[in-house]
Amino acid sequence: MLSTMQDVPLLISRILTHGAKIHGTSQVSTWTGEGEPQRRSFAEIGDRAAQLAHALRDDLGVTGDDRVATLMWNNAEHVEAYFAIPSMGAVLHTLNLRLPAEQLAWIVDHAADKVVMVNGSLLPLLAPLLPRLRTVEHVVVTGPGDRSLLDGAHARVHEYEELLTGKPVTYDWPELDERSAAAMCYTSGTTGDPKGVVYSHRSIYLHSMQVNMTESMGLTDEDTSLVVVPQFHVNAWGLPHATFMTGVNMLMPDRFLQPAPLAEMIESERPTHAAAVPTIWQGLLTELTAKPRDVSTLTQVTIGGAACPPSLMAAFDELGMRVCHAWGMTETSPLGTVARPPAHAIGTDQEFAYRITQGRFPAGVEGRLMGRDGELLPWDGESAGELEVRGMWIAGAYYNGPDAEPLRPADKFSEDGWLKTGDVGTISPDGFLTLTDRAKDVIKSGGEWISSVELENALMAHPDVMEAAVVAVPDEKWGERPLATVVLKEGSTADFASLRAFLADEGGIARWQLPERWTIVEAVPKTSVGKFDKKVLRRQYAEGELD
Ligand code: ADP
Repeated sequence: MLSTMQDVPLLISRILTHGAKIHGTSQVSTWTGEGEPQRRSFAEIGDRAAQLAHALRDDLGVTGDDRVATLMWNNAEHVEAYFAIPSMGAVLHTLNLRLPAEQLAWIVDHAADKVVMVNGSLLPLLAPLLPRLRTVEHVVVTGPGDRSLLDGAHARVHEYEELLTGKPVTYDWPELDERSAAAMCYTSGTTGDPKGVVYSHRSIYLHSMQVNMTESMGLTDEDTSLVVVPQFHVNAWGLPHATFMTGVNMLMPDRFLQPAPLAEMIESERPTHAAAVPTIWQGLLTELTAKPRDVSTLTQVTIGGAACPPSLMAAFDELGMRVCHAWGMTETSPLGTVARPPAHAIGTDQEFAYRITQGRFPAGVEGRLMGRDGELLPWDGESAGELEVRGMWIAGAYYNGPDAEPLRPADKFSEDGWLKTGDVGTISPDGFLTLTDRAKDVIKSGGEWISSVELENALMAHPDVMEAAVVAVPDEKWGERPLATVVLKEGSTADFASLRAFLADEGGIARWQLPERWTIVEAVPKTSVGKFDKKVLRRQYAEGELD
């Protein structure tokens, strides 16, 4: 028997029209580096998204599922692109502006992007690349920047504001199939070629609702969210879509992502929430310690993308900012787990222990742990295995061109269709996931496994340590042993022996797991989305650069 309910497709255009109408006075404020931020209401964004869609269709000839790429910082124009492109039926392709040029060109080519929207400040990045981007017919430039860099380009160059001028502020958004492609994002390709994940209208809609649940970010129109996580990093973790559902104001940092302007933004714009990877927060903490600011409004902080060191969480607690730890991947839209402690633990000494786990699966995501021989492991808090997930906003394959079958590599998808995350950990009987490592980062020493994350967390709890990354290096006797790479705080006199002793005495690390190889560096190399780049560290060690 079929239901008697209306069958209304879950479309991005519905999120846009809802936000523009019901939360029309909520704002997107973009930091400009000087004076007042640029402010735009959700109603204006709705109007301008319609104008952009007209321009893309009528002036640039975007039709069907043409791909429109963005090479942009977090700002109001990028939000307009987020809504206009999928709502008209085309596919938004966010480009990671920190990728090496080679990879960017490969990705644009692979996705066959027809249009690239670019912030003027990023023209020095796009211009030298453009001659190789043969599928790109149009470049749309927004904001200040040297247009002459594009002289002689094969693509037609347009000014964003000129394109919008005079266009109607309404658009008859098409009734699309909710399963059709809305947006795409390539994983940063730590191994092999980048892999394209294509989100559907349906997956984004459902994911946005989950982001808005109290157990996830749970924000309302009283809130302002400082969206530090880039819009090219898994759709800024769903915030632009989720905020249009609930009217949460967005504060966009544009290109001002250094600790000092971030601290200034928090003090002057008074956001209540912020989201970013741990390295950003570590930088902000150092900044706030050196130069205290009034950051009292910022009470909720979402940290994900890499394990949040417990010492970082504790330091933010001290500042009155409550950290909520979450786990996800490009393939999981990204919300996969969120660490909200269960009611019975709140206010007890177990609360912190729950908060530093990766958290529980929300309704809509299922998880399971697989052992080394492919056996299903129990949720007993001890059995460690690879995490596999499935759900309504989890990728089931990778994009392989418009006419090719999607890719389902056996190392990424199980035969019964679950996503193999490559993350290793345990799940407690009450459903809390604790990740010990990425499978490729685990240190395999004499048949036993050492968690690089555990060593890093213990090291980063040392008062003199700013950053610490631990990688496996080859060892004749044990196969692999840990190498600890440490960034010390200014003026620190800590030496390796004292750090090692700290790991054993304060960190509770077993003797056989203690690193015997150490190196001090000025900064740990970071990936394009700001995580510790262990691949680079391993290479540097192999090439003798870290001795
Ligand atoms: P990339 O693989 O290029 O870094 P993603 O952003 O998709 O791109 O990274 C997803 C991975 O990041 C996860 O598989 C996991 O290893 C790591 N990760 C994300 N969030 C967390 C977290 N809270 N704790 C530990 N690891 C995390």
